[in-house]
Amino acid sequence: MTDVEELLARTRKLLADHPPADTDRTDFLRARFDAGLAWVHYPVGLGGLDAPRALQAVVDAELAAAGAPDNDPRKIGIGLGMAAPTVLAHGTDEVKERFLRPLWVGEEVWCQLFSEPGAGSDLAALATRAVRDGEDWVVDGQKVWTSSAHTARWAILIARTDPDAPKHRGITYFVCDMTDPGVEVRPLRQITGEAEFNEVFLTGVRIPDAHRLGEVGDGWRVAQTTLMNERVSIGGARIPREGGMIGKVAATWRARPELRTHELHRRLLDHWVDAEVARLAGERLRQQLVAGRPGPEGSAMKLAFARLNQAISGLEVELLGDEGLLYGEWEMRRPELVDFTGRDAGYRYLRSKGNSIEGGTSEVLLNIVAERVLGLPPEPRNDKDVAWKDLAR
Ligand SMILES: Cc1cc2nc3c(=O)[nH]c(=O)nc-3n(C[C@H](O)[C@H](O)[C@H](O)COP(=O)(O)OP(=O)(O)OC[C@H]3O[C@@H](n4cnc5c(N)ncnc54)[C@H](O)[C@@H]3O)c2cc1C
Repeated sequence: MTDVEELLARTRKLLADHPPADTDRTDFLRARFDAGLAWVHYPVGLGGLDAPRALQAVVDAELAAAGAPDNDPRKIGIGLGMAAPTVLAHGTDEVKERFLRPLWVGEEVWCQLFSEPGAGSDLAALATRAVRDGEDWVVDGQKVWTSSAHTARWAILIARTDPDAPKHRGITYFVCDMTDPGVEVRPLRQITGEAEFNEVFLTGVRIPDAHRLGEVGDGWRVAQTTLMNERVSIGGARIPREGGMIGKVAATWRARPELRTHELHRRLLDHWVDAEVARLAGERLRQQLVAGRPGPEGSAMKLAFARLNQAISGLEVELLGDEGLLYGEWEMRRPELVDFTGRDAGYRYLRSKGNSIEGGTSEVLLNIVAERVLGLPPEPRNDKDVAWKDLAR
């Protein structure tokens, strides 16, 4: 068990051996990984020290105070928040050693090839096929809404390997090389004007069996690791008090006294309190995540995050009146990072609409909370024991 003093000593040694001002950014991040200070709750040798997750804040604060570079999580959120915990939980030793370091350092961007035109909320209905061919799998199908596919080097992918099995049991989980000639990425433009996400066509894509995560046919269980982490990663990011969306509207409120009314003041304070409660609930959730395996409670965090982001960004547009209706720029871009609170009030308002869809819609998360947190009876399902190929589509 690593304690605070030991962590601080290690962090200071890293800074002394690799002074941030004189060290190349990538070299510094690699050295940080090798010192076990990347994600302290990860195993020794894989960027961590087997320490309690809550101690990461101690390292981060010390490094930030010394002006050390970070790994720019907004560019590699899918890798950090979803691919890494899945690789850690289900990958072989070779897979962990190959992928985790460049992922954390940010040298290799990851994306998530899960959703399909016919499989979103009902993800287990997916139709992309993977067929075994010698030491490889050959993948054909179409994915959609794939954030960062245009910058990604690797993807986490789920595909159907047994159409005769019921839908949840015939799926296998892979790491897919986005530079394979069979991968075609086309931009999809969003309500914001940007194309953060894409549709991805997979034609004869070859994946070595060594890049399978978990057993053949067990991909649905492996995907649960990804999905539970995704919800925490979207809804439970660590933010300072009055950070995130509430910080934006509070700043406008302070800077523009002429816009204030009593009614807006009351609503702002309501949202401020809700945002602070959500932030503190996130802190508590993170402290519970000792082993890095979040449960369905993360779905409640993500629900609250989406509801608050939409309400608060709406209030900001209202506060700004006519000005709030202006939209800075609607030029088509393919951004390198996902930014929920960037640009202007109009962007924030429009981007927040996706918060109740991405990572599981709010309706689906309500179902998860009802069934798996509150223990209420599940929705009736008649497709659990039927072969996937016999289901109506
Ligand atoms: C900004 C953004 C980024 C995304 N990035 C990615 C990505 O990188 N990779 C990826 O794989 N996917 C990504 N997605 C896709 C996202 O996961 C899906 O859009 C989402 O799961 C919903 O699926 P769907 O769009 O097919 O909607 P559907 O599942 O068709 O849902 C349509 C409506 O029906 C409701 N509904 C469906 N089932 C139920 C039910 N059982 N009970 C009650 N209501 C229900 C839904 O809540 C929704 O309102 C992204 C989406 C967005 C918006």
